[in-house]
Amino acid sequence: MTNINEFFRDNSKETLFSYEILPPLKGESINVLFGHMSPLMEFKPKFINVTYHREEYIYKQRERGLIEKRVTRKRPGTVGICAAIMHKFHVETVPHIICGGFTREETENALIDLHYLGITNVVALRGDAIKSENRFQPEPGGHAYACDLIEQIMGMNRGIYLDEDLLQGTKTNFCVGVAGYPEKHFEAPNMQSDFKYLKRKVELGADYIVTQMFFENEKYFSFVENCRAHGINVPIIPGLKPLTHRRQLKIIPSLFHVDIPEELSLAIEDCQDDIAVKSIGIEWCIEQSKQLKAAGVPCLHYYSMGKSDSIYEIAKNIF
Ligand code: FAD
Repeated sequence: MTNINEFFRDNSKETLFSYEILPPLKGESINVLFGHMSPLMEFKPKFINVTYHREEYIYKQRERGLIEKRVTRKRPGTVGICAAIMHKFHVETVPHIICGGFTREETENALIDLHYLGITNVVALRGDAIKSENRFQPEPGGHAYACDLIEQIMGMNRGIYLDEDLLQGTKTNFCVGVAGYPEKHFEAPNMQSDFKYLKRKVELGADYIVTQMFFENEKYFSFVENCRAHGINVPIIPGLKPLTHRRQLKIIPSLFHVDIPEELSLAIEDCQDDIAVKSIGIEWCIEQSKQLKAAGVPCLHYYSMGKSDSIYEIAKNIF
């Protein structure tokens, strides 16, 4: 059990390798995911993040014209996968935990599970709106912002639980990462407001920041500079995603609210097929990685979507 922030302290000169995976779709075998992860172990990832996917509503047509609304989770299993990866590969895992869909009590219970499993690293997030809704709605009795979630985690690190009769509970030892947005969180009215709340997350106890993906390093460098100017002094881990499909030119900007630079989008539009797109995506990501590594970033964190081939090619050139 190592807290991620110790890696950044101990290896202040070396750029570390880490990546993010998604839990498999419900019904898929975990062995497929393991098959993708195994080759990447060659590059000794220091930690692997596992995303959390909240519930969705699906509507089924039933007899006599009735519509049934069902609540389902397409990618359950974040905590179980973290434990399974630690067991199989002996590497630290970092589950993402979100406010959406959780009451405070359920959050506390989830954190207790993690504590018992020896998982001491988490990324604390608000989460997005349910897919069919247009704005984020906190669960009644749940948290509205990542800040509130961090406060709860820090309380548990001091032995404070929700039950007021429990005077001194076991202190947890969570190390907390939070999200940062070099191109602004899409709901924030301006960058200044986003920095204000990012700073608040750090003041409340966040140990480091992981950025949203970006395709121009200048955006990361200027984000770091601005964070420092606002007194945000924790490590800022750049998150990188190699493009693999032409359709991502449309999907990524609308889903993640980030720009794809013209040079990259034109090169992808010129590709005959997705094999060529993948190769451009890898090349672009290698160049980004080389420059970030030369600038001495603490870690390069890749969004793998659970597939290893692009990340393998990139890691081979960087680590
Ligand atoms: P917050 O930090 O709470 O910020 C949300 C918005 O509210 C921002 O505009 C902020 O400026 C503003 N704000 C913050 N605090 C306050 C306050 N106290 N008062 C008023 N305004 C405030 N989503 C998932 O569902 N599962 C995942 O696994 C997941 N992993 C992610 C990993 C990374 C690295 C990143 C960058 C994002 C991830 N997301 C994930 C998406 C994330 O949940 C969304 O971007 C979400 O919209 C915001 O989450 P947050 O933690 O940044 O929110």
